Amino acid sequence: MSISQTDRAAAFAPTRGGSKELFDRATAVIPAGVNHALRFHQPFPLYYSRGDGALKYDVDGNSYVDYHLASASLLLGHDPAPVRDALAEAVQSGWAPSVCHDLEVRWAELVAELIPCAELTRFVASGTESTFLAARIVRAHTGRSKIIRLAGHYHGWNDFFMVGLKPPFDQVQSAGVLEDVLAHTITVPSGDREALRSALEGGDVAAVFVEPSGGAWSTVPLSVAEIEAIAEETRAAEALLVFDEMITGFRWAPGGAQERFGVTPDLTTLGKILTGGLPGGAVTGRAEVMERLRPGPGVEDGYVFHFGTFNGHPFPAAAGSATLEIAADGAPQRAAEDHAVALRAAIQEQIAELGIDGFVYGESSTFHIYLRSPDSPAAQPATLEGTSDEELLSIPATIVGALQIELRTRGVDLMSYTGGVTSAAHGEAELARAGEAFGGALRSLRDDRLIATR
Ligand code: PMP
Repeated sequence: MSISQTDRAAAFAPTRGGSKELFDRATAVIPAGVNHALRFHQPFPLYYSRGDGALKYDVDGNSYVDYHLASASLLLGHDPAPVRDALAEAVQSGWAPSVCHDLEVRWAELVAELIPCAELTRFVASGTESTFLAARIVRAHTGRSKIIRLAGHYHGWNDFFMVGLKPPFDQVQSAGVLEDVLAHTITVPSGDREALRSALEGGDVAAVFVEPSGGAWSTVPLSVAEIEAIAEETRAAEALLVFDEMITGFRWAPGGAQERFGVTPDLTTLGKILTGGLPGGAVTGRAEVMERLRPGPGVEDGYVFHFGTFNGHPFPAAAGSATLEIAADGAPQRAAEDHAVALRAAIQEQIAELGIDGFVYGESSTFHIYLRSPDSPAAQPATLEGTSDEELLSIPATIVGALQIELRTRGVDLMSYTGGVTSAAHGEAELARAGEAFGGALRSLRDDRLIATR
């Protein structure tokens, strides 16, 4: 029996009237009704009321096993008591930002204890601000203009990175970005050592920016050998290496991917787990480079201007420090990863049983599902090794949309596209519930001939 997207909406909508009503109001006062383009989902996004551990609840009282986790911010799950208590205490002291306070000092000390490259840390107000500031620092430090970014890696929405993030990699992803700015961004295929070396040859590259998980939080994996090669080539060209550890930071290990892989960059950009799920971010790294932020020398000597009303705000400082204190021993990361390993195995089992031509993969506490359209007949069954970066990042929107609504109808929420992240709060009960939901959703897509079978 074929199930159309209209049928899917009909199964989804009736128990979600409160969300529908809020979305109708939102569209009148917020462009597209959402504050982040990926938050729109067919037929309307869900409006959430609260979270508890691995679950979150919408305004109509439906619960969801949460693999979105505030865009990978909640390593400990929703509402962990020590983080709530730390935040409540900070609220008691007021919330006057733009002043110095003890919480920001403790917060920076924790970053220095955990992240291998961290000597000095400057807090900012979002992840995007951290890559923006890092780009300014590396240019000031080296006196060079160009930045290399790897195809398919995501570094926030700032102008320098609005090309190369998704296929086609040479296409600018936003109107309003100056060509002159993008002329200083070089996109290199992820994992292509020769291409990286030749892009570095001119001696005009300030830094190479990398998501050490591989692009888009391991949607396009990178091996440790490839990360080591990137570091070697970057150093040989006397450029700086910047790890964007927005997702991997405190997740791949207490010290992030750089601890797990034993490759230490010059600078690291952080957010998400860093702030315990509150707004904020940071640039951290070698003292000699971070010292560019110290007022004193003139601009001609490489002084980097950086202000920001909400930098180091006491709320993210309190929630972030409480989170990092718990995350320091590696136990939450291991629990989250154990769940991801079991979930990947459960989904792979469903894929095999249903005869679907796809696969599950992912690093650390993440998972990604690759599914392809029956319209693009393939000689070989799909494998990770046999699938190009472009293909991994280009699952047709009809497949993504149908999988997402099928899963939400069954009480599972993904991070984005066909993937998710796990937390230390995800246990056996969630695994059983999610396994069933993925089985049902994939069966529906298969029966509807939306996805290729073997
Ligand atoms: N870099 C990476 C690797 C990210 O995953 C993100 C957010 N998903 C960002 C930068 C941007 O962070 P923010 O959304 O806080 O601006």
